[in-house]
Amino acid sequence: MTVDIVTIFPAMIEQPLTAGILGRAIERGTLDVKVRDLRDFTTDRHRVVDDVPYGGGPGMVLKPDPIFRALDAIAAERGAPLTVIMTSPQGRPFTSAEAERLSGLAHVVLLCGRYEGFDERVRERVTEELSIGDYVLTGGELPALVVLDAVARFVPGVVGDEQSVAQDTFSRGLLNHPQYTRPPEIAIGGAAASPERVLKVPEVLLSGNHAEIRKWRKREALSRTLARRPDLLAAASLDDEEVQLLRELKGASHERD
Ligand code: SAM
Repeated sequence: MTVDIVTIFPAMIEQPLTAGILGRAIERGTLDVKVRDLRDFTTDRHRVVDDVPYGGGPGMVLKPDPIFRALDAIAAERGAPLTVIMTSPQGRPFTSAEAERLSGLAHVVLLCGRYEGFDERVRERVTEELSIGDYVLTGGELPALVVLDAVARFVPGVVGDEQSVAQDTFSRGLLNHPQYTRPPEIAIGGAAASPERVLKVPEVLLSGNHAEIRKWRKREALSRTLARRPDLLAAASLDDEEVQLLRELKGASHERD
């Protein structure tokens, strides 16, 4: 997958992309990410990318012309038409389903805003507008990295074990089950204010009984989703065993109430 990111702060994007799973995917060529400095598409001596808002008011607005020139240059290099994603708190909420959908595209452009955002006419060249949450950040660089990271996990070959992506939270509309690793027991506390307690890994995970482990994980994922994100359950794709487990969990919670 090829991704072009347009920003006035290239270093904010380039540095994080040298590490971890994304860094390795870029090194291997599974992902081709090019960061474009918006100032390279200005025509004045001072490389100005922003101007005051018409009508007055606080802050500055990103000018449309450098962005249009950047998009023209990308289209000339990659081929048109472009899929252009504007990062924006006014956009559609970015979800795991959106990430999976975008991972099927061969090429996308991510636009990072700054200041008061983009001149409205930039939207004429935008395919979609995505928000990473109901809060306002100072710029689109972190949202662009969030979108890229979440999308890249669905690109075949990026995450070594594709099963892990398929089992992660949201993949089937459920939160993931709890995970444990060694040691099997660990003591915490021990100070006067908090007496020592031994935290144990659930017995079933040490049993070697794979059928029981699978069932335990299903039950834990369902009970966690029921407790924390019951809104997800309506759209979750559950197998027969999970439907039965959920019925039992709901029955047990009614009895407790
Ligand atoms: N004046 C804009 C508004 O009220 O909608 C906010 C502009 S914000 C300070 C600057 C830039 O940060 C935006 O153009 C966008 O690129 C990015 N941004 C901020 N919050 C975001 C969010 N929740 N999701 C995606 N992008 C965001």
